[in-house]
Amino acid sequence: MSHQPSSTEAPNSIEAKDIAYQLHSYTNARKQEAEGSLVIERGEGVYVFDNNGKRYIESMAGLWSVAVGFGEKRLVEAATRQMAKLPYYHTFTQKTHGPSVDLAEKLIAMAPVPMSKAYFTNSGSEANDTVVKIVRYRSNALGKPEKKKIISRLKGYHGVTLASASLTGLPNNHRAFDLPMPGILHTTCPHYRAGAVPGESELEFSQRCANDLESLILAEGPDTVAAFIGEPVIGAGGVIVPPSGYWQAIQAVLKKYDILLIADEVICGFGRTGEMFGSTKYEIEPDIMTLSKQLSSSYLPISAVLINDRIYQPIADESALIGTFGHGFTASGHPVAAAVALENLAIIEERDLVGNVRTLSPHFLSRLRALESHPLAVEARGVGLIGALETYHAAFAEKPGALGAALNRAMHERGLIARNLGDTIAFCPPLIINEAQIDEIFDIVEASFDAVNATID
Ligand code: PLP
Repeated sequence: MSHQPSSTEAPNSIEAKDIAYQLHSYTNARKQEAEGSLVIERGEGVYVFDNNGKRYIESMAGLWSVAVGFGEKRLVEAATRQMAKLPYYHTFTQKTHGPSVDLAEKLIAMAPVPMSKAYFTNSGSEANDTVVKIVRYRSNALGKPEKKKIISRLKGYHGVTLASASLTGLPNNHRAFDLPMPGILHTTCPHYRAGAVPGESELEFSQRCANDLESLILAEGPDTVAAFIGEPVIGAGGVIVPPSGYWQAIQAVLKKYDILLIADEVICGFGRTGEMFGSTKYEIEPDIMTLSKQLSSSYLPISAVLINDRIYQPIADESALIGTFGHGFTASGHPVAAAVALENLAIIEERDLVGNVRTLSPHFLSRLRALESHPLAVEARGVGLIGALETYHAAFAEKPGALGAALNRAMHERGLIARNLGDTIAFCPPLIINEAQIDEIFDIVEASFDAVNATID
């Protein structure tokens, strides 16, 4: 996407070898073969630089994840120290090590509701996949083998492994993969502007979402539904901020039918919404939380599942009955990743990055909302330091995603990395950003929207 076909590039260039050897995530492989790759070489604060020295302001924090920016030396030092002491050990078969214990203790202390245990995994997908297995294991332990279904939401994003991709409510994560798998159901997406009927208030729309959930539970049979999963704010599905009263109405239904609540905090966790957790922001009381991304600022892969005692106790009993909890990853609780996560959390707290989100959010949101009146925009959505502009123009109506792609190209040329989720442009900058850098982002967004609009008119 950065430049023209790679014919001019040396056959042993990174660009040429990338096309020769690597299959990429979320990429049209044939398009990449024709257009080439963008090589990002280094990072510094909220900026990254390509191998031609061009600077980009990274308004997506990588993949919604690099809270402390791209050049945090303390994380390098924490990794180096731990590498030198114990570069690897596992947490199977009653073994443990300091970094995983310290991180588990820290996360339990930080959790917005009483949690009992942390279980470590390596990605958001693995965390959610593990949750699906934990929910099944628990229902079997409780002698309720029929209580296994999990309800997710259309446009929710929970990852890409077989179970996590099934939880995800986006067509491209199912299409040609023969998903979703049985036992995973999807309910209404809480997108007020797109879903509300004329005259319906946010509260009424939220209640209707909860009624839809209740109807689905009743149609399936309440005794067959084990859990509901949701992101406090839907991220990859288009940054959908819940309408007023949504989480209250949903939680009332779940309580009525004794259904567990799983909060996928993979994006919201560690400050994104202006609270340490999205669950705090929206008064969600989850039984299970999944955490990743800003947990280590993605410097190393690590994720965690937090479970309360209602989950832990039956699982412990079942593991005693069977003789083992037959689940685990070689790198679960990896000591270097855990050490980096601990240092990253210390930085988030010491520098009060959650406070920075609260301070800067009004400016971020006002610059975002100012663009809502642009001829190419239909809606601005956001909270804390996460936001999106949904775009539309009749000239692109036949080709969904084409306007988003054109805007993305225009922003890219001007040195801004954002993310086009179809025709919705998402922004989720590092939490260390300052006001001038927010202006830099939105000045480029405005110029890019104007430039694309000029090509239409
Ligand atoms: N859950 C949410 C809310 C996410 O945004 C993501 C990734 O974007 C995932 C889960 C999956 O995480 P990973 O890509 O680390 O598997």
